[in-house]
Amino acid sequence: MTDAVRHHHSRGLGMTSSRVRVALLDELRRQGIRDERVLEAMNKVPRHEFVEEALKSEAYKNRALPIGYAQTISQPYTVALMTEAVLGGGSPRRVLEVGTGSGYQTAVLSHLVETVFTVERIRALTETARVRLAGLGHRNVHFGYADGTLGWSPYAPYDGIVVTAGGDEVPTALIDQLAPGGRLVIPVGPAGAQMLRVVERGAKGRVEREIGAVTFVPLLSGKA
Ligand code: SAH
Repeated sequence: MTDAVRHHHSRGLGMTSSRVRVALLDELRRQGIRDERVLEAMNKVPRHEFVEEALKSEAYKNRALPIGYAQTISQPYTVALMTEAVLGGGSPRRVLEVGTGSGYQTAVLSHLVETVFTVERIRALTETARVRLAGLGHRNVHFGYADGTLGWSPYAPYDGIVVTAGGDEVPTALIDQLAPGGRLVIPVGPAGAQMLRVVERGAKGRVEREIGAVTFVPLLSGKA
């Protein structure tokens, strides 16, 4: 198949049409996502550009998909929930993402905050995401090849931090790199029983709450 024919064929399947995207946004609303800014940002990001050719027809279904290296692009609902939580109804300016992966969550954040910092421990994923986001016109993202359990100290502190991989505990470096009033959103718990936790660094100390059950790939130490 030539590229032109494949493109035409994809259109014919309607897999990237506005109709399938609108259906996904409606589903996210029904699942409880309330911040319209988040839904609008997700509507702008072409999720099919973040997965391989064979998975493009699945891109607007509400599920995680493989991106190679035993990693996944998060489920749209999870991306929406984490993004809504890190915004917290306000407007954080500088947000750190731990676990760039495909760069999908990065792209959503890039539409919503002034500057996104994103770190990934698998070099090939960092490089692919960097090229992909540049191609899609994102100019406010800084990519790092680093172990995000240590945060990303050169650019700290952050108004918000989202961690897109889960472990048994919250790395203290991440709390230390939160600006006053900042929020950390992180999956915590053993595989199969993770909860999404929001940690706020408030004037009177730390406030924590859990906002839902999630399933993430493991947060690993060191670089691959
Ligand atoms: N936000 C991504 C999700 C990718 S899956 C997306 O939307 O596609 C989680 C990613 O976290 C994987 O790519 C994994 O390699 C990465 N990861 C796991 N532990 C990490 C760590 N300590 N530092 C940085 N990245 C990490």
